[in-house]
Amino acid sequence: MSATATELKNFVGGEWVDAVDGGTMDVPNPATGETIARVPRGTAADVQRAVEAAQRALPEWLDATPKERSELLLALARVLDDNAEELAQIESQNVGKPLMASRDEMPFSADNLRFFAGAARNLEGKSAGEYIRGYTSFVRREPIGIVAGITPWNYPLMMAVWKLGPALAAGNVQILKPAEQTPLSLLRFVELAKDVIPKGVLQVITGDGVPVGSGLVEHPAIGLVSLTGDVETGKAIARNAADTLKRVHLELGGKAPMVIFDDADPEQVAQAIRLAGYWNSGQDCTAGSRVLAGAKIYDRLLEELVPAVESLKVGDPADGEDVEMGPVISQAQQERVLGFLDRAQKAKATILTGGGTRGDRGWFVQPTIVTDVAQDADIVQNEVFGPVVTVQRFDDDADAIAMANDVRYGLAASVFTRDIVRAHNAARRLQFGTVWINDHLLPITSEMPHGGYKQSGYGKDMSMYSVEEYSNVKHVAVKL
Ligand code: NAD
Repeated sequence: MSATATELKNFVGGEWVDAVDGGTMDVPNPATGETIARVPRGTAADVQRAVEAAQRALPEWLDATPKERSELLLALARVLDDNAEELAQIESQNVGKPLMASRDEMPFSADNLRFFAGAARNLEGKSAGEYIRGYTSFVRREPIGIVAGITPWNYPLMMAVWKLGPALAAGNVQILKPAEQTPLSLLRFVELAKDVIPKGVLQVITGDGVPVGSGLVEHPAIGLVSLTGDVETGKAIARNAADTLKRVHLELGGKAPMVIFDDADPEQVAQAIRLAGYWNSGQDCTAGSRVLAGAKIYDRLLEELVPAVESLKVGDPADGEDVEMGPVISQAQQERVLGFLDRAQKAKATILTGGGTRGDRGWFVQPTIVTDVAQDADIVQNEVFGPVVTVQRFDDDADAIAMANDVRYGLAASVFTRDIVRAHNAARRLQFGTVWINDHLLPITSEMPHGGYKQSGYGKDMSMYSVEEYSNVKHVAVKL
């Protein structure tokens, strides 16, 4: 524990509280390994206390009009905008994220909040009418009540916004549990927003997945749990939620293919991979981690790609604004990524560049390109969640689409071609929740859904679809 590390508390019922049993956990900076903060390590008792605070707040919040909910979200957006630089600095230090990336996330997160502020006033249902002779039917779209959000470490504040935005827009009260590695930006955000959040409408409790996350999933008073996290965590949550039959929304892992047809421009594609594969050290569920290249463009693409990836400026984000890639989140994650590379090499894969660690402190992995991998290889089939891109060769369009779809994930994919027919065919056949044409990763927007097919989960973040997840639809029939 460094002498300058900050001591933080949880936000429950509008008050700052320690863990019920007084436990704490250290939060490190992944670029240095140094502890930068200490936060409460919650238990089931903290879940219970947060639920009770939410129950006290619920009746009054249920009376809030859409306009009032919208105004809360607009106020939160203003808090985010007014403190964007401080929050970006915290995010950079806690995640090991380059400042250019964390600064980019703040206006987007504020825009998400403004979108949800608009959405709060636009919840819709079928028009009232006499669908049964002698009765008038109408639809009420109602809040679920108390909902929980469990977030990952790769975009800590943005993922929290993607949960709290639709939850509050739809009229719920919420309990958020950030990832144990990265609770700092969310705790600071609610501290800055404390005066605008009605008491008990939003709780933040820190701690491990088990017992705090699992405690939220099991609690009978919570009506929905939304997770952004690993596929295995999603399965555990779906199983646990079955006992109380609460609604589950799962945004899980990905293994996004970038399908490069022979007519694409190799230089433009190499730049797109440089960004899509290595942004946030590849710790992005939509990272372009599998490049599938046509036989005629394969060699030319690698000639462009290797120097492009080697030109990435890697370092501690605190070393300068021009750092483009930081460490991975933890020693465990570093070991996990290196384990994938080790197994790939044993299976005769070629590491064209990268492949090792960097420096003598922090949890860095060099930007890495791997070739000569089989479709059924571990490194092709499973999410690495690090700065590692595999490049495979395909023979024809059908082969490309089959290889792209041949993973258990289905979050995002992209296609690079100048041929509009090829692009549309691919967009139709790719089994992924997002398909980008001639770009990858950054084209996301508040109005459009983000979510998976297959084992990447179900339900959507952002867009009106996410707000619908957080509400119940009721049919009322009046006998005339
Ligand atoms: P993780 O699943 O280990 O943890 C995510 C959250 O779940 C954490 O808050 C953790 O404490 C909690 N948790 C862990 N076990 C739990 C349990 N049994 N019950 C309840 N909660 C539990 O994931 P991570 O390592 O923090 O994040 C990386 C993963 O998230 C990657 O697989 C990545 O692809 C995925 N991800 C997905 C999206 C998306 O939108 N689909 C976005 C970002 C990250």
